[in-house]
Amino acid sequence: MNERLNLLGLDNDALTAQVAEWGHKPFRAKQLARWVHQRGASRFDQMTDLAKDFRAQLESCCEISTPEVITRKISSDGTRKWLFDVGNNNAVETVFIPEDDRGTLCISSQAGCAVACRFCSTGHQGFNRNLTTAEIIGQLWHARADIMASQGAARLGTSSNAQATENDRIISNVVMMGMGEPLLNYDQVVPALKLMLDDNAYGLSRRRVTVSTSGVVPFIDRLAKDCPVALAVSLHAPNDDLRSQLIPLNKKYPLAELIAACNRYLDYAPRDFITFEYIMLDNINDTEKHALELIEITKQIRCKINLIPFNPFPESGLVRSSNARVKQFAQILMDAGVVTTVRKTRGDDIDAACGQLAGEVKDRTKISERMQLRKTIPIKEERM
Ligand code: SAH
Ligand code: SF4
Repeated sequence: MNERLNLLGLDNDALTAQVAEWGHKPFRAKQLARWVHQRGASRFDQMTDLAKDFRAQLESCCEISTPEVITRKISSDGTRKWLFDVGNNNAVETVFIPEDDRGTLCISSQAGCAVACRFCSTGHQGFNRNLTTAEIIGQLWHARADIMASQGAARLGTSSNAQATENDRIISNVVMMGMGEPLLNYDQVVPALKLMLDDNAYGLSRRRVTVSTSGVVPFIDRLAKDCPVALAVSLHAPNDDLRSQLIPLNKKYPLAELIAACNRYLDYAPRDFITFEYIMLDNINDTEKHALELIEITKQIRCKINLIPFNPFPESGLVRSSNARVKQFAQILMDAGVVTTVRKTRGDDIDAACGQLAGEVKDRTKISERMQLRKTIPIKEERM
C-alpha cells in the first residue's frame, strides 16, 4: 500500500504545488490549510465547503495525522505536558505554559540531541533522529485541539470535543525549546516555522515564534534569510574555555563567531535584540568574575539576558545556584545597564521545566555512553 501524504507536513508552497498537481486552483490550498490548521479538522468529510470530488481525492491518498499521545499531564499551575510516540521506541515531549497575557507552547525538534550539553537531560540521552515537519507541527495541532477541547468542556460543562474556532489565541507563542537542536534539523524545522506564521494556518507573528539554539552559526545565517523569527541563543558561559566544556559545539563555533552571527541576524530579526539564555550553575558560571565577563559580551551586541535556574537531574552531577546567588548575579548585570530577567520555573511537579524534557530516546550514537563517563570530569576553567 502506498503511504498516505500527511497534510500536517506541507507548508503553503508545498500544499499549493500539491493542489496544482491534482489540478486545482491555488485558493483550494488556502481553504484546505484553514480546515487542517485553524479548524483542526482531522477528517476530510468535515470539510464541507470543498467539492465532493476533491474531498474524495483527498480521502484516497492523504491523512491528517499527529504522533500518538503516550501520556498527558497537567500541573497544579496549569502547565501541561504531552509525551508523543514518534516510533521505534522514541518519544518526545511538548509543554504548554499558560500565563495571564499569553500561552506558550514549547515544541521538540528531534528525538534526542547530538550536541550533548553537559547540563541537559536530552543531551544525556544521545540522538536518534530528526522529527519530520508533520511531527513538529503535529505537536502544535494536537496541543491546540486538546486545550480547546478541555476549555470547551469546562465552558459547556460537558466533555464534548469542541473544535478549535478561527483566530483563537490560546497558544499565542511557540518556542523551539523542547528536545533537540532545531538548527540541526533545519530542512524540517523551517516549513514548520512557516506554517506557524502562515495566516491560513496558525497566524502567529514572527516576534512570537522563537528558535532557541546552542549556536549553529551557519544555520543562524540561513534562518535570517529563510524565515527570520525571534532568536534565543543558549550562551551559558561568558568565555570559550568554560563554554566548550558545557556545550561541546562551542569548539566548532566559538563565541566570537557566534556573536558575529547574532549581529548579522539582527539585520533581519523581528525584534531588535537577541535573547541570551544563561543557566545558573553553582560555582561553575555564577561568580562575580563571570558576571563581569558577561557584561563585556553584552557590549558587543544588542541583547537581553535571561537567567535560568538550572533544573537538576541525577546524571548531570551539577547543582543549581542558590536564589541569593542568582539575585546577586542579576544585580551586577542590571547595575551595568544590561536588561536581565530571571526565568520562573513552571510545571515542576510534572517534570516539565526547561532541560527536564527527557522523553525516550533509543540512542543511535555513542553519546549517552560518553556522557556517563564525562559526568565525573570536573568542569574547571584554565584561565582564572
Ligand atoms: N537545543 C536548543 C533548544 C532546546 S534546549 C538549545 O540548546 O537552545 C532549550 C533551553 O533549555 C536551552 O536554553 C537549554 O540550554 C535549556 N536547558 C537545557 N538543560 C537545562 C536544565 N537542566 N535546566 C535548565 N535549562 C536547561
Ligand atoms: Fe541539545 Fe539544547 Fe540540550 Fe544542548 S541544551 S543537548 S543543544 S537540546
